Amino acid sequence: MDYEYKRKNVFKEADEKKTEEIFSYAEGYKDFLNKAKTERDAAEICGKLAAEKGYTPYTFGEKLKAGDKRIYVNHDKTVFLIKAGSGDVAKEGIRIMGAHVDSPRLDLKPHPLYEAQGLAMFKTHYYGGIKKYQWTTIPLALHGVIYKKGGERVDLNVGDDEGDPVFYITDLLPHLSAEQNGLTLGKAIKAESLNALVGCIPDKNVDEKDEKNAVKSLALKLMHEKYGTCEEDFTCAELCLVPAGKARDVGFDRGLISAYAHDDICCAYPEMTALFESDASPRTCVAIFADKEEVGSDGITGMNSRVILDVINAVAASMGADPVATRYSSLCVSADVTAGYDPNYPEVFEKRNSCYINGGAAVQKYTGSAGKRATNDAPAEVVAKIRDILDGAGVIWQTGELGKVDAGGGGTIAKFISYIGIETIDMGLPVLSMHAPYEIISKADLYEMHLAMKAFCK
Ligand code: MN
Ligand code: MN
Repeated sequence: MDYEYKRKNVFKEADEKKTEEIFSYAEGYKDFLNKAKTERDAAEICGKLAAEKGYTPYTFGEKLKAGDKRIYVNHDKTVFLIKAGSGDVAKEGIRIMGAHVDSPRLDLKPHPLYEAQGLAMFKTHYYGGIKKYQWTTIPLALHGVIYKKGGERVDLNVGDDEGDPVFYITDLLPHLSAEQNGLTLGKAIKAESLNALVGCIPDKNVDEKDEKNAVKSLALKLMHEKYGTCEEDFTCAELCLVPAGKARDVGFDRGLISAYAHDDICCAYPEMTALFESDASPRTCVAIFADKEEVGSDGITGMNSRVILDVINAVAASMGADPVATRYSSLCVSADVTAGYDPNYPEVFEKRNSCYINGGAAVQKYTGSAGKRATNDAPAEVVAKIRDILDGAGVIWQTGELGKVDAGGGGTIAKFISYIGIETIDMGLPVLSMHAPYEIISKADLYEMHLAMKAFCK
């Protein structure tokens, strides 16, 4: 029998009790996901849930003792949940779980609003790796913040509540697509045509000279009434168009979930729930909700900044341990998704080395592209440690590569954590249609990831 056929199927292995747990865990996840469409949303809801579990704000320089639970939020976007254990942290290190909570989407430009032939539109700038054609003709919600002069912050969340209006990017009708149909997928929709409809009703009270902008004028007026903002405030804003609507079960058996932002909330949520269930563990653990992964982890909230080094060093110092010794004995799971084998596109997968839906937590020794470039290639010794942790707890897991060697590739935050001397390995869920407005994961893999993270915190 081929080794590849020894893969387990989580649903098949699960008894009645575990099957129930799988389905009930998914309900909590969908709830979280529906509220966590941007990194700011995720940071906010994570902060609320952590507070309910006894996490209080972390202060650099404070002393931590076993049982202390702290949260550090970086610029409202990146979250570090810190749980102090009773063990010798310099010797045993910190168990770090790092997922990201930003997802591909369309950000508004600094001067987004304009009017063309009686329609008001928002100019967008795509964030992360998207296939542009997928973002047309779907309902979009607007999430984000605007700062008014003087610094007052206004939060926007339009399009996800029942009865809210949505935003919408048009595509050509097939009748006039003769030329477009001949273009490649990557070229058929241009970034500068990803402009979202914002309104169509003209403001009747504008001066004659402003008539060309009467629809835009009404849109600004409505925003002013609701939020107190003016057009200039767009320059001090972060507004994101994200797919509108809630996570939905897929299929007669409801084993799959379709939703926006599985990448990477489907890893962020399990690391959080696992940490919340690990109060009794003697280990010191840190769960990270990172920002900017989808654009290369740069910037002050990305993992390619000093913040990860500073926080880990500070936690070590807070526990009276040497920071270098602590980092060098720590272990990190870079919790991020991988491609699930898609039977519709077998040509890009190498089936012996793919990860499969329902195959459980997907461990990846390396990611990267073009011959293992730009990857943390975890030493075999680190993979062996993870195997013992997962097998020891009876977690169902699999391992593989993203796809065929020269088909493309991708990266995660793993390399940025390994830069600072922390043993790191990638583990996450297999996803279908990754980076599409609505992606697919399995409820069984999701629950197995929770069990994997729990074993890791033990
Ligand atoms: Mn990801
Ligand atoms: Mn991604």
